[in-house]
Amino acid sequence: MSQPRRRTRPAWSAFIALGVAALLGGGLLTPGTAAARDGLGGVGGSANLAHTSGIQGQNTKAIASAALKADAERRAQKATQRGVRSPGVQQTVKKLEKLRSEAAPRPRAKAQAAPPGQAKALVLYDNAGPFGHLGELYAMGMANLGGRFGTVTSKPVQEYTSGMIETFDTTVYIGSTYYNASLPDAVPQDFYLDVLLSDRPVIWMGQNIWNMAHSISLQEFEFKYGWDPTNSYYDNGAGIGRVSKVEYKGQTLTRRIPDGQDPGILRPLIKQGPGYPDPTVVATAVDTDGGVEKRFPWALRSGNLTYIGELPFTFVSEADRVVAIHDLLFDALAPQTAEQHRALIRIEDINPLSDTTRLRAIADYLKSQNIAYGINVIPVYSDPKGSENNGIPRTVRLQQRPALVNTIKYMLANGAVLMNHGYTHQYGNVDNPYNGVTGADFEFFRAHVNPANNHVVYDGPVAEDSTAWAQGRVDAGLNEFTRAGLPRAKLWTTPHYAGSATDYRVFSQNYAARLERSLYFAGTLTGQPVDSTRYLGQFFPYPVTDVYGTKVLPENIGSYEPVASNQNPPRLEADLIANAKANLAVRDGFASFYYHPFHTVAPLKTIVEGIQALGYTFVSPESLLS
Ligand SMILES: [Zn+2]
Repeated sequence: MSQPRRRTRPAWSAFIALGVAALLGGGLLTPGTAAARDGLGGVGGSANLAHTSGIQGQNTKAIASAALKADAERRAQKATQRGVRSPGVQQTVKKLEKLRSEAAPRPRAKAQAAPPGQAKALVLYDNAGPFGHLGELYAMGMANLGGRFGTVTSKPVQEYTSGMIETFDTTVYIGSTYYNASLPDAVPQDFYLDVLLSDRPVIWMGQNIWNMAHSISLQEFEFKYGWDPTNSYYDNGAGIGRVSKVEYKGQTLTRRIPDGQDPGILRPLIKQGPGYPDPTVVATAVDTDGGVEKRFPWALRSGNLTYIGELPFTFVSEADRVVAIHDLLFDALAPQTAEQHRALIRIEDINPLSDTTRLRAIADYLKSQNIAYGINVIPVYSDPKGSENNGIPRTVRLQQRPALVNTIKYMLANGAVLMNHGYTHQYGNVDNPYNGVTGADFEFFRAHVNPANNHVVYDGPVAEDSTAWAQGRVDAGLNEFTRAGLPRAKLWTTPHYAGSATDYRVFSQNYAARLERSLYFAGTLTGQPVDSTRYLGQFFPYPVTDVYGTKVLPENIGSYEPVASNQNPPRLEADLIANAKANLAVRDGFASFYYHPFHTVAPLKTIVEGIQALGYTFVSPESLLS
């Protein structure tokens, strides 16, 4: 039986975009955006970015324009202060001495590297101002990544207390609220002082670094770090430019932000002259405005401080500048990590109508290469409206297809790991968003297609969503595997990568890990009721323990999709390989993709060979479950 049309799946673009995207309207990559190709497929082009998910595009525009306006005011204010004599070095030193003596006593022992997997990270975020809700979303994105390395504590920055920095291996501050005359600085003075006085690594992203310099004394900042944040701006005097690339560790990463929605990148003013340390440029922004490449530091490091000039969680795709963040964290949390590059394959959407010949061909090819892989099986095919069957409803169960079951067993005997990809991969007898057919529709989340722009819009959890409902679907699916004589599935992938926080927790209670991208909902860190309209969509470059407390294995380079769907352009062999190449920047990273068995073996072979040629080694997803 030929495969039902499956081109229909919402593909998200990647990372954090989602929710935020949703929120931002445009911004973050959202799974919600654009049509899903199973799971947030992550799509790179700006055409896919955002719209959907409830957030209006103008929100991202509003955020960008508010930040740029505040920065212009800061510059104007600075200009009026020229001529005011800065305090001399002696005065600065005295001021610092006073601050030091007033600061609570605290240990300042040199940090020892934490044992692998036991690092402790502190993530501080803003929650003030009209866009204050974004802080929690960004913090979740950072906390999830931190879950690769150990435990993460997240707090609104105003809850920081003196000396806290010394009790963590690394502190990350995410400056997403621009504090200025109309919004008083919520960052405690103790934090500014502790950053300066500590040896512990601090990663500072985004705004307010100039307030630290003002607070502790600009000269002290300059002498420790070698640059002047009070004279560093997003606008270089002729606008923010168009930074379309970020260079990091020999890889050129993408940065695709629609016009009018880019808040810019802080352009650090490096101090020249004796006495100033020379900051290390960790990553370089490439401004391609006007067709001429102009470079400036995207990330700077000196002393204990790594500064990143933007919050790279919006408009993210697989080869995006966020990859630099994925790797930077090793410096702070696991500096001893050895370089290695592993790859994962998932064969996706295998269901009772799958073509056994194609599956065998894929199995034989992967076996010939000694490659272990995951097989994502949907145990029940459901087409309640007969959308693919001339209007006649149809349900087909695994046990009714002994040849397919036999093929699955053959795959399991030759390197495959059984994974569960939903119960029916569709929802009830409604279009969600397409036609109610297995493989095409969402199962654990509601969605529709916006006819105005052909984007898939995320509508929220299903009406009856609950722990019991999700557990019921899981149980029903596992029972189908048992009835078909198959083993218990060890791993789970949520259909179209979309479920509620409740659903994700249920899945994780039933499987050793989820292998997917996920949605992270507002309220998770704050303990407030979950707000399903505000979320962050994120993919991971390595296994993490996320803010839900669940283990998630990476899917970070997307899937082979030769046909465009819902505003997602095709994603071809070379695109996946290019994504894998960009991810070589992650010192212990992965190239993880999925492949639909209704395609022939040839593209799979090209992708596998291309990824191997980059130096990746394919491993079984099961090898990551220790
Ligand atoms: Zn699927």
